[in-house]
Amino acid sequence: MSIQYFNTLTRQVEPFAPRESGRVSLYTCGPTVYNYAHIGNFRAYVFEDLLQRHLEYRGHAVTRVMNLTDVDDKTIRGCRTADVPLAEFTQPFKKAFFDDLETLRIKKAQHFPEATSANHIARMIEMIATLIERGHAYRAEDGSVYFRIASFPAYGRLAHLNLDELRPSGRVSSDEYEKENIGDFALWKAWDAADGDVVWDSPWGRGRPGWHIECSAMATGILGPQIDIHCGGEDNIFPHHESEIAQSECVTGLAFVRLWMHCKHLLVDNQKMSKSAGNFYTLRDLLDKGWTGREVRYALLSVDYREPLNFTFEGLAAARAALARFDEWSRRIDETAATGAEPLPTDLDTTAFGAALDDDLNISAALGAIFEIIRETNKRLDAGTLTPGQIRALVEWRDRVNSVLRFEPEAATISAEVQALLDERAAARAAKSWAESDRLRDAIAALGWVVKDTKDGQKLSPKA
Ligand code: AMP
Ligand code: ZN
Repeated sequence: MSIQYFNTLTRQVEPFAPRESGRVSLYTCGPTVYNYAHIGNFRAYVFEDLLQRHLEYRGHAVTRVMNLTDVDDKTIRGCRTADVPLAEFTQPFKKAFFDDLETLRIKKAQHFPEATSANHIARMIEMIATLIERGHAYRAEDGSVYFRIASFPAYGRLAHLNLDELRPSGRVSSDEYEKENIGDFALWKAWDAADGDVVWDSPWGRGRPGWHIECSAMATGILGPQIDIHCGGEDNIFPHHESEIAQSECVTGLAFVRLWMHCKHLLVDNQKMSKSAGNFYTLRDLLDKGWTGREVRYALLSVDYREPLNFTFEGLAAARAALARFDEWSRRIDETAATGAEPLPTDLDTTAFGAALDDDLNISAALGAIFEIIRETNKRLDAGTLTPGQIRALVEWRDRVNSVLRFEPEAATISAEVQALLDERAAARAAKSWAESDRLRDAIAALGWVVKDTKDGQKLSPKA
């Protein structure tokens, strides 16, 4: 079966084919860096990570862009309150975001463009100028520029909205009363006192870009006018992605995105986890409570992306238990696998994992397939009915699964004390002092490590 994914635009599961065979361009909306990202945000990023790794597992080369929104109302409010320049205010949150990506084993995008970079601001201004020129945008008296949604009949198609619902209905709000239509959105926001010194010059006067044009400019600027896949959380569908389509297509004249994918929200007590609702946990909160990045990753990953995921500590405990089971099996096959053996297939269905993901990233079926193999392998290991070659093949399969899911244990760091004992033991063995070698093995075991002697030297693994 070929890969198929659900397309928000058509509301159908469709076979996926990139524009250029074997190469996929992927744009994912990134964080607004005014605070630490919460684990709701990370549900979106972990889903996108699964998508990227699945595509790579199937042999596609993925070029991924994730933007950082480092100018908007919230970042401006934050830097004004802290009384520091905008860039100084957002810097620690950018760094924290990259640290969190690493903790959650999310693969780094090739590009992390920042909205405030001079080249991206220049492109935003250029796009807005084109939109005005073509009648898709207009300048209001205060110098703000709005996109004219009535000029783009397809507006509303992604969110399946009726444009008539967005017709003018009296005054909009005190600072946006110059809009022609309630649905028109700001491409450029004229400077006002609350912006302080966060300001850029433009042909329409001083101001700053709107959020939607930031993504259109960075996406088309880096990946070109046509992108294979564009993702985000479901709250991004409208107005953000809808507006990205309008802006981009009115500038380039080409279909912007082939496939739109959105994950459902992470919920707490059936409410969206969000900063504004105050019901959120950051990754740091959970690490402080003793959970690991791998466990949080598992919990965020283990529910299908098109289902809401209710966040609970029971869910995290279930992730911990599932990973313990995976680790135990993993250690067992590692210990019994003969290094030199030729991999030999078994009759176990190792294709079910990939096939489940090919079916719109059906992670529940993929995990089901993994745990089925674990159950069956454990039985056969007990009965001694697996050959060294078959175990070798299972080890290789496990490594391929991990290239997608990244479930392997944290690489435990060896302390200087253990390293010194290992060095001493290597010297004792070289001198054929077997009793000393055994004594050192026990000393290493007392520190929590099992040492095995292989043809490549001593091999260390954490004690079960
Ligand atoms: P923001 O920083 O609010 O722009 O959000 C960054 C990303 O996180 C976007 O893709 C959002 O759609 C996504 N997001 C925000 N809250 C949640 C949530 N509770 N569950 C899943 N994704 C979310
Ligand atoms: Zn975006």
